Amino acid sequence: MSVGVLALQGDFREHAEVLRSLGAEVELIRRPEELDRISGLVIPGGESSVMDKLARAFGVAEPLAEAVRAGLPVYGTCAGLIMLADTVIDGIEGQQSIGGFDIAVRRNAFGSQTLSFETDLDVPVLGEPPVHAIFIRAPVVESVGTRARAIATLSDGRCVAVEQDNLLGTSFHPEITGEHRFHDYFLQKVAAAGFRY
Ligand code: GLN
Repeated sequence: MSVGVLALQGDFREHAEVLRSLGAEVELIRRPEELDRISGLVIPGGESSVMDKLARAFGVAEPLAEAVRAGLPVYGTCAGLIMLADTVIDGIEGQQSIGGFDIAVRRNAFGSQTLSFETDLDVPVLGEPPVHAIFIRAPVVESVGTRARAIATLSDGRCVAVEQDNLLGTSFHPEITGEHRFHDYFLQKVAAAGFRY
């Protein structure tokens, strides 16, 4: 099973390492023609406005949007989640997203006081123990549309992890804490989808 990691910008190496440790064959994806080799894709954390510009400049944004519509399983963390959101709030001028996830996401939602913080989160689909989550200039999912569902919320009720058919998204970064359950959950989605171009 070959899984891609979008490698335009951000912490793609960390994701590739986690996926390899779980037994997946990993392709780093930068060009549209590389998309037809994979049956799932991870979009890493980084800076969504830069990633968006690079995705368009490399001609990968539109084919990727089409692949998402066709059912390619995709997991986005932080900036990657912003890339997948149908609606981006507080984007920079002209910022676009690949879309597909029926959610509205607010960039940099935690303000300057808590640009980065750590907390333990209950994620019922992953079972026990709670997930130790690191938020770095993280977004929140401000509204969850009818096609998506929240799978984790902070104690104040704000949604920070979502799922929708072939899509998975977290505001935080499991790839840097040794937490492999989200990637494992994602690989199960990839195996179940059996996506082929
Ligand atoms: N603030 C970043 C953005 O808007 C996301 C930060 C991250 O990926 N850790 O894209």
